[in-house]
Amino acid sequence: MTVRDEVVDLLQRLIRIDTTNPPGNETAAAELLRDYLEANGVACELYAKDPARANLVARLRGGDGPTLALLSHTDVVLADPAEWERHPFGGELVAGEVWGRGALDMKGQVAASAVALASLAREGWRPAGELVFVAAADEEFGVGMGMQWLVDAHADAVRADYALNEGAGDRIEVGGRAFYVCSTAEKMSAPFLIRVHGRSGHASMPGIADNALLKAAQLVQRIGTYEPELQIGPEVAALLETVAGRVPERAEEALELARALDPMLGELVQPLLGPTFAPTMINASEKRNVIPAVCEVTVDSRLLPGATPDEQLALARSVLGPGDYELVPIEAQGGTRSPIGGPLWDAVVSFVAAEEPNAAVAPVCVPGFTDSHWVREAFGTVAYGFFPARAMDPAAAALLIHSANERIAVDDLELGVRFFRHAAQELLA
Ligand SMILES: [Zn+2]
Repeated sequence: MTVRDEVVDLLQRLIRIDTTNPPGNETAAAELLRDYLEANGVACELYAKDPARANLVARLRGGDGPTLALLSHTDVVLADPAEWERHPFGGELVAGEVWGRGALDMKGQVAASAVALASLAREGWRPAGELVFVAAADEEFGVGMGMQWLVDAHADAVRADYALNEGAGDRIEVGGRAFYVCSTAEKMSAPFLIRVHGRSGHASMPGIADNALLKAAQLVQRIGTYEPELQIGPEVAALLETVAGRVPERAEEALELARALDPMLGELVQPLLGPTFAPTMINASEKRNVIPAVCEVTVDSRLLPGATPDEQLALARSVLGPGDYELVPIEAQGGTRSPIGGPLWDAVVSFVAAEEPNAAVAPVCVPGFTDSHWVREAFGTVAYGFFPARAMDPAAAALLIHSANERIAVDDLELGVRFFRHAAQELLA
């Protein structure tokens, strides 16, 4: 069996285990991976807060050198078979692509990481430090069963100097040159409520009441149309330096430059230049004929790494102006970064140089949340999102994630195995 067949087979078997979260049921996936890895001489341990939701940690031990962790999650989001051309849990191989929920997010990377580790182990390769593989539960709908819990309850099992995870790796073309994007940071998700106060009354006589919903409407308008002052962070600066060869002084120019180079680059850069405020939910009266005394607006908000929720609320207050309302923060998550440079960065760069000598690596901050946050926060781990992908058009692939007809090219699975093997051998030599 070739490594290519091996990674396809493992991915097919992973996809056929329905790990839709909620409820997850990731234990079956963890057991499949354990059986596969143990058969290749890799020590495995399952850690479960809930027996149905096990996390797998596998490790290859060497000496006292650094630890590299390959991070991943085994749960997937809901798939409605009616929307799909192939069964979402069928794992079919069609024209060089493996179809199924999780193929891209992220059972493909799970399989590639596992095959890289297994193949190194059976060849007799041993790391100078440790090579760890984590297939965590509960990333898509976090209720404290996955990476967050592992870092907390089993820190010694998952502590690492370096980590590779999901988040980026796509090959993009800008101005005729190829770049592989590597995510080194992520924005903080910091949602909050605007709780607006008024006075209730019968809706047949609006004049006697003070309608909280009407007052909220003005605030929704203000926060939803607010355009933040833009700023260039280290990731955007390094990205533009790599792709355009220069970093404009003003953030507005940076956005124009990115758009001029490629509209896709503009879309990539725009959310990385400032915070976002998107009102998404509203709650007022429970009854049609009662004017609400309270109205709550939920605002989804993402902050640049380094920004704090306190600064965000102060900004929101200045945007909203004075009024009969309070701001109630909802739990914030994420917002961490790793340095652009050092041994892990060099390993990504040397891989790309070997695969495609004319391509470069461009750092990026991702607007969403990944489990990399937990290890950066707990251990100061240098964590990047990098799973190289070049067989599919990146824009088309992005549309398949969390959507119908998700699938991955076998060529990319093989590329992923090569990358993880390369990273381990470079960092842990
Ligand atoms: Zn994911």
